[in-house]
Amino acid sequence: MAREALTGTALDELRHKLRAGNLADALLQPGPATVLRSGDRKLTRDELRSEAARIAGGLQRLGVKPGDRVAVYAANSLDWVLAYLGVQRAGACAVMMNPDYHSAEAEHILRDSEPVHVVTDAPRADTVRKLGFKILPVEDLPRTDSPPMPDLTPESPAAILYTSGTTGRPKGALLDHGNLLAQARGAMEVWRWTARDRLVHALPLFHLHGLGMGLHGTLLSGGSAVLVPFTPENVVHELTQGGTMLFGVPSMYQRLCEHLEAHPANLSSVRVFVCGSAPLPPALFERCAKLLGQPPVERYGITEGGIVVTNPYEGPRQPGRVGYPFPGVEVKLGEQDEVLLKGGQVFKGYWRNPEATKEAFTPDGFFRTGDVGEIGDDGTLAIRGRIKELIITGGFNVYPREVELVLEAHPAVHEVAVAGVPSEKWGEEVTAFVVPSGTPPLVERELIAFAQERLASYKCPKRVVTLEKLPRNAMGKVQRSLLVK
Ligand code: AMP
Repeated sequence: MAREALTGTALDELRHKLRAGNLADALLQPGPATVLRSGDRKLTRDELRSEAARIAGGLQRLGVKPGDRVAVYAANSLDWVLAYLGVQRAGACAVMMNPDYHSAEAEHILRDSEPVHVVTDAPRADTVRKLGFKILPVEDLPRTDSPPMPDLTPESPAAILYTSGTTGRPKGALLDHGNLLAQARGAMEVWRWTARDRLVHALPLFHLHGLGMGLHGTLLSGGSAVLVPFTPENVVHELTQGGTMLFGVPSMYQRLCEHLEAHPANLSSVRVFVCGSAPLPPALFERCAKLLGQPPVERYGITEGGIVVTNPYEGPRQPGRVGYPFPGVEVKLGEQDEVLLKGGQVFKGYWRNPEATKEAFTPDGFFRTGDVGEIGDDGTLAIRGRIKELIITGGFNVYPREVELVLEAHPAVHEVAVAGVPSEKWGEEVTAFVVPSGTPPLVERELIAFAQERLASYKCPKRVVTLEKLPRNAMGKVQRSLLVK
């Protein structure tokens, strides 16, 4: 489905070029300009480069060797960034941890990845200490003179990112330097990211969206970023004070739109709004187009495979579709219309889990995303949901996203998630979990009738459950396992 005609050797050469080098060399370029800001604190490129090198020295003095794991378990901050870049500069492998994880979740990741040290902040230090791991305080890491750059290649391990685990236990996706470089170089190209850009960075840094795109893209492009905790007020403030790009997940855009409806702002100096990590409802796409002054560029990706498909920067952005592959990326559909990926961004396997790794790839080397896709005549991809979320009702297959798209169009629905609830009669019963909009009032019978006018009857919800809000994880993904308890 690639728009580019590259195949064979030309494709291999492009992937090779996108993967070339190592993160520390590529990301830590010298220069006097401010590259990162958070509150009143600013760092220039020169400061970032020298601090990362001094932290690398401190880690090496503690015995950290290339390939050792060092976990980062702390809230977003400039110190987080320095710690992470210090780990990269030391040639170690960074284990990324969601700071919201509680003890049991942290324990799973720490026991699985076996880091030699855990960089953490005060609120999490006790948890780590009780689990018996060595702690380094994120705001006070040991520093020495800059050590020489270790010998690293695109194949050297760079980071372990745990899958979001909305179903099952999180698995560690081991990404190498080449994966992360291809990711950031691809993002720069597709969104025309340059040194003139300032990203408003309000995403968690531990996830590929905030790390591989947000942080790495900023450092590679020569531009800058401002880190803010996500609130619509913070984001609008930064976007009207020189921010040119925003990356977000749909639930962030939803809150941004609610805010802009009450407090309109002129965001015409923003170059691009990128949205992904969960489906962007078409109604929200239109609402953004109106309130932000341009529709977001919806993109698609997955931790193991990279963020690799996007609507065009120039040219029509289609609601409900995620667009075309990044440069050097191949996308095709396999059995059950599963989205399959190949490219320099795609990982080589799960950390210490050869069985899961084997299952994750097709015999011809494509990564199996577990998402159901559809490729249109124009070559654009649409995501229909996860294979595992498939509902089997009375022997028929129903993809929740197809039903959600219909229900989202009803004015009484603010948000909806569809899931299969176990039922003696149907095996699973299609159930709609709805956050009502308030006006008009939600009437179960009417909503079901609305679906029946638009969908085959087996796909229509048998029941509508009203909720105040949908359970979502840190990246705004609905946690279906919490709906169907
Ligand atoms: P993660 O590994 O946490 O980034 O989650 C990846 C999953 O998020 C994918 O497999 C998709 O199911 C979902 N996802 C990411 N982007 C989109 C999108 N634009 N539309 C629909 N689903 C998405």
